[in-house]
Amino acid sequence: MKQGPNSKRIEDNMRSGPLAAHQFLGTDTRTLSDIILHDQLLLESLGLTNQDISERMHYFTEQLKANPGPRVVDNKFMAEREEHKGAILCPFADNVQASKSITRVTNIELRKTVMWSDLNIHLIGTHGFYEGYGAPFRVDPAEYAEVLEINKPK
Ligand SMILES: [Zn+2]
Repeated sequence: MKQGPNSKRIEDNMRSGPLAAHQFLGTDTRTLSDIILHDQLLLESLGLTNQDISERMHYFTEQLKANPGPRVVDNKFMAEREEHKGAILCPFADNVQASKSITRVTNIELRKTVMWSDLNIHLIGTHGFYEGYGAPFRVDPAEYAEVLEINKPK
């Protein structure tokens, strides 16, 4: 897909700008627009929205802010928060910054674990951006929906 100049500028910034160290695009060679579009199609096939995913992640992260755990949540999940000092600036140049702290959640029955940074919640909820393949903080919508038991709204 052809992408607009704004999207191209953000992509260049992610690949070679001061934010490149965060590897938002991982080893992905697709354009930023294609990465976002592909995940939106995947979400549609799951019947979910960016908000369904980001709100569920926010739910766990919020519960750990007072007590980082590890602790059991809803009798089904083991959740913990790893505090990291400092903040990361949103690569979409909207002056949003998020802490580097990480939330890790294991679905006890499935024995599967997923993790995310506070910035992931913003990137998904606001920009529909799940990061590229091979990115250290790539959020695969299907995998996260399974592990966090994010269900289609009835
Ligand atoms: Zn942003």
